[in-house]
Amino acid sequence: MKKIISLLLVICLIACIFTGCKSSNDPVDSNKAFASKDKYRNFYQIWIGSFADSNDDEIGDFQGIISQLDYLNDGDPNSGYDLGIDGIWLSPMMPSYSYHKYNVENYFDIDKDFGTLDDFDQFMSECNERGIKVIIDLVVNHSASNHPYFLKACDELKEGKEDGYAKYYNFSKEKSEVYSRPVTGTDYYYEGEFTAEMPDWNLSYKGTRDYFEEIVKFWLDKGVAGFRLDAVKYFTDYHTDGDEFLTWFYEMAKGYKEDVYMVGEDWEEAGIIYDKYETGIDSMFNFKFAGSDGAYASAARFGVMKDFVNQLKKFDDNIKKRNKNAINANFLTNHDMVRIYNTLDEDEMKMAAALYMLSPGNSYTYYGEEIGIEAPNTTNDASYRTPMIWDNDKLPGIYVSGVAEVEKTELGGVKQQLVDDNSLLSTYRRLIKIKNENPEIARGDITETVEFDNTEIAGYIVEYDGSKLMIVHNGSEEETTVELDVDSAELRGDVVATASKSPDEVSEESTQGAVKTSASSKNQRASLNSNKLTMPPKSSAVLKIS
Ligand code: CA
Ligand code: CA
Repeated sequence: MKKIISLLLVICLIACIFTGCKSSNDPVDSNKAFASKDKYRNFYQIWIGSFADSNDDEIGDFQGIISQLDYLNDGDPNSGYDLGIDGIWLSPMMPSYSYHKYNVENYFDIDKDFGTLDDFDQFMSECNERGIKVIIDLVVNHSASNHPYFLKACDELKEGKEDGYAKYYNFSKEKSEVYSRPVTGTDYYYEGEFTAEMPDWNLSYKGTRDYFEEIVKFWLDKGVAGFRLDAVKYFTDYHTDGDEFLTWFYEMAKGYKEDVYMVGEDWEEAGIIYDKYETGIDSMFNFKFAGSDGAYASAARFGVMKDFVNQLKKFDDNIKKRNKNAINANFLTNHDMVRIYNTLDEDEMKMAAALYMLSPGNSYTYYGEEIGIEAPNTTNDASYRTPMIWDNDKLPGIYVSGVAEVEKTELGGVKQQLVDDNSLLSTYRRLIKIKNENPEIARGDITETVEFDNTEIAGYIVEYDGSKLMIVHNGSEEETTVELDVDSAELRGDVVATASKSPDEVSEESTQGAVKTSASSKNQRASLNSNKLTMPPKSSAVLKIS
């Protein structure tokens, strides 16, 4: 590993001699150099078992992910082929008998379904070469019921011993709502907030905290950038002050790695999310804005951008009031939510993608969202975790428990969408490219909202390091021109949701003389004529302003 780093340093030095080193104030042409200095990332959530299978055992694995890393980021910012993401959130990967692996049996290994620790190390070094930071899902609210500590605790309780391993969990002889799960062969009950297979750790016990320190150190030593903390909501329970625990956990991890990055899961209203930022944690998932009924999908569907930008500013202000370093964690869906393509059509998907990805903070794209994977049903979790579709003509042989058959995606698999400049996938690539070229988008504070007579078009100004961008969304079905109240403006990028026809289709229609005005207008881009910004229907524009 050290050898690789030295070699990379030498290569960088040689590259600097030939190209001239850029100072940190230079404009960035890719996020790679920039991102390595801070915690801002375009994250991609991988459900490991459903992503790519390398050995035909019908389960996705680390070698499978490695084989598809070029799709996520090929390490060349100018290749244009890849998605350009620079962060990965790995769903649970530690040994567990469940397919979702949220009940951990061993915190220091990789589940054999997914590979080995060597595979993980190889995955990490491949990510390092591409400038991708990796965060792993860490479940510290509970363990698996066959975790050795829980098994030992139950054994000891059979002999009436309460002061050994039993202290790691929460037991009582009084059956109650909290202590509802019986320990076989004893008169004890334990707390298992979620299921009997998931006994809650005693988060107040020093022994548990010492154990968590070992776990954190182990994975940070493996090179992970940080953690996605599962079930933060349940840290607060009958025995523990959850915020005290979260503060301790974050500080503890920071003690091992100064720039550790942590994002918490608490499926809650905005007010509760605001307060969690007081613990010092970098990010909390913004559930208020996510999902079929969230602010992003609603604004994409109904187009009232005035309300959207005001909601966004309020949220951004509030989290930064609690913690000036707060990084909003923006997303549309995750593994616990119905696929967003079940609710939105292609144009709305593109608009929603622009809304969340151009918001300040980190964006989290759930694998397959970028190609419009649909959930086969809306009643079980497994249907939100169906296999990634790399090629509609060659469906993967991955089997997801509880899901009958892998289906083609309506909009095409990765292979089909990569070659179409107007595909949903290409819209994601374009958005990430715009974000990488304009670091203010993620890092800026929203200083003001920008409103016009028409409530369907609105924007906001983000300011970062003295540089200002205006981000404007047109949610209407009409081409709209607005006059900007600025000294100067320069168009930095745009995304047009209604450009659903590929250039090929349009030119084909043109030669047949059948092209309609509406079809040609669908391929317009945003344009700027001094201070007059003209935006196509359902589009977003990023402008550098002064
Ligand atoms: Ca496999
Ligand atoms: Ca708990």
